[in-house]
Amino acid sequence: MRHPKAALAAALSLAAALAAVPAATATAAPAAPAAAPSSYAAYAGSAEDARANRAFFEAVMESVARKRAAVPGTQAVTVVYSAANAPSFRTQIARSTQIWNSSVSNVKLQEGSNPDFRYYEGNDSRGSYASTDGHGRGYIFLDYRQNQTYNSTRVTAHETGHVLGLPDHYSGPCSELMSGGGPGPSCQNAQPNTQERARVDYLWRNGLTAAGIS
Ligand SMILES: [Zn+2]
Repeated sequence: MRHPKAALAAALSLAAALAAVPAATATAAPAAPAAAPSSYAAYAGSAEDARANRAFFEAVMESVARKRAAVPGTQAVTVVYSAANAPSFRTQIARSTQIWNSSVSNVKLQEGSNPDFRYYEGNDSRGSYASTDGHGRGYIFLDYRQNQTYNSTRVTAHETGHVLGLPDHYSGPCSELMSGGGPGPSCQNAQPNTQERARVDYLWRNGLTAAGIS
């Protein structure tokens, strides 16, 4: 989150490297994010993040769409996640899920198998971010140091907001969840505000059709 240009350069070189990888390898199940992702949205990052946010949201929506297509007649839009790779953040992830599920009505988060996205934890100089691997799967990376500096539940709920389609708005106040690290480490709010709740419900109002994916 502190060196957006360096991160972009790393991402571009990774993209070039990935282009040389055989298709069978490139489409394998997502592994732990050891290398720089091809696109990402940091907790308090750069202008490039907006595009990555959108890509991540679409990746999650497509994953949900595939599963709904396999089970015709499914009414509720449920986004399934795995927290198995972020054991240190189980409490924050559960709290974030609780916050979102009590804040919006058109989409629900649920922990389970065959997840639409995964949480990971580790050390990354860019901080926490949401990302897509470009193959319809996304993940949220939670950085240890950043989660010690900032309110950890707020970081987790913020990144999860990207899963639900919200963009970053770093210039916003602490009362806004998607202002992320903008208001500084003293901000303890982990709840989306009225506008953010309404936007998520709007995006998911007709299930997947709302995002142009059916
Ligand atoms: Zn963000």
